[in-house]
Amino acid sequence: MTTLEQIVSCISDYDPNALPVDCANRIIRDFVTPVTGIEKVSIRSTLGRVLAEDVMSTIDVPAHDNSAMDGWAVRGEDIAKGAATLTEIGTAFAGRAFGNRVSAGECVRIMTGAVMPEGTDTVVIQEMVKAEGKRIAVPAGQEPGQHRRLAGEDLKKGSPALSGGTLVRPAELGLLASLGLAEVRVRRRLRVAFFSTGDELRSVGEPLREGQVYDSNRYTLWGMLQRLGCEVIDMGVVRDDPAELETAFRNAAANADAVITSGGVSVGEADFTRELMAKLGEVAFWTVAMRPGRPMAFGRVQNAVFFGLPGNPVAVMVTFLHFVRGGLLAMMGRRDTDLPLVQVRCESPMRKKPGRTEYQRGILAQKDGTWTVKLTGSQGSGILRSMAEANCFIVLGHEQGSVQAGDVVQVMVMDGLV
Ligand code: AMP
Ligand code: MG
Repeated sequence: MTTLEQIVSCISDYDPNALPVDCANRIIRDFVTPVTGIEKVSIRSTLGRVLAEDVMSTIDVPAHDNSAMDGWAVRGEDIAKGAATLTEIGTAFAGRAFGNRVSAGECVRIMTGAVMPEGTDTVVIQEMVKAEGKRIAVPAGQEPGQHRRLAGEDLKKGSPALSGGTLVRPAELGLLASLGLAEVRVRRRLRVAFFSTGDELRSVGEPLREGQVYDSNRYTLWGMLQRLGCEVIDMGVVRDDPAELETAFRNAAANADAVITSGGVSVGEADFTRELMAKLGEVAFWTVAMRPGRPMAFGRVQNAVFFGLPGNPVAVMVTFLHFVRGGLLAMMGRRDTDLPLVQVRCESPMRKKPGRTEYQRGILAQKDGTWTVKLTGSQGSGILRSMAEANCFIVLGHEQGSVQAGDVVQVMVMDGLV
């Protein structure tokens, strides 16, 4: 196993006190490895799972040339030179082919999805045709080969239909079904354990005394981990006590592939965690050049990958989405882990210094026919309402300076993410 120290030493511009976001992500991706376990599950159970290997097509889909429209199947050469009058000799239905050959001057009434009768290669749609009994008048201007779906045009026999590492969404489910597959090999689910740290935290349902807050991070983390399709182990709240923390870390690492904590990595608390981590694994403490979410810890606790997130509720969500998510997806064996950024005009001015990445909470809305973005309001890292009101992040890159109202900014849509 490559150690964190080896990976970090390869990255020349590594500065744990001002670590650029990209650099932190590079270290995380280099350190984690995909789980190796594979399960064979029934097709519906693959929804939200990751394909363990390429899925080859064992058949052509569709299996035969067939009609894309309702109309008449004709021979291309009969209609190539202009208007033609043909004789209808039968009908082809989807699932009930016309069994005979079609000769020059003949045509067959055909329905969408019906196999093209032998001798025909073209469909003239019914709206174009004048039919008098069996005499079918086709106007000029029809293209030989039109409105015909070719055998194998969706999936070709012997070629890969889906690659290993693909997330199964409804479209992939359909594709697997179109190949007739009842069972599919997927990677085993990733097990992720998490807990909150802090003497001030109370769990929901308990009364709140002075100076205490309800533990909300466990709920945002639980929700985000569920959305990623992880097997989630919620270990509750752990007091700021070395012995309790050590026990929690040992239990978490023994039962999970990854361990996530919130709190305990800020300047006042990190020393405490640092000592424990030196004993249990190999962990780097970073001050990431970002806002919100600067302090973070990353590494290994026993055999589990460890993400130590800040305590502030917005910082937890932001660091989860921009570091942990990609790391966990890589561990799940996903091929595609990057989220799309789109360019949108911004209504709100924003002060920003180059030298850090900022994730402002934004509202993307349609105004006079175009989509624009504006800030949710107060952007403090403890204001979880800014996340609840937002439908996107406004991502201000490392080098970017202040934004004027009307400037184009990069936006990451949250739909499905948080
Ligand atoms: P810390 O990083 O532990 O110093 O915490 C920073 C801030 O986040 C403090 O105001 C904490 O009370 C708050 N905080 C820490 N953990 C949680 C949590 N699980 N839920 C809500 N707030 C928290
Ligand atoms: Mg704390």
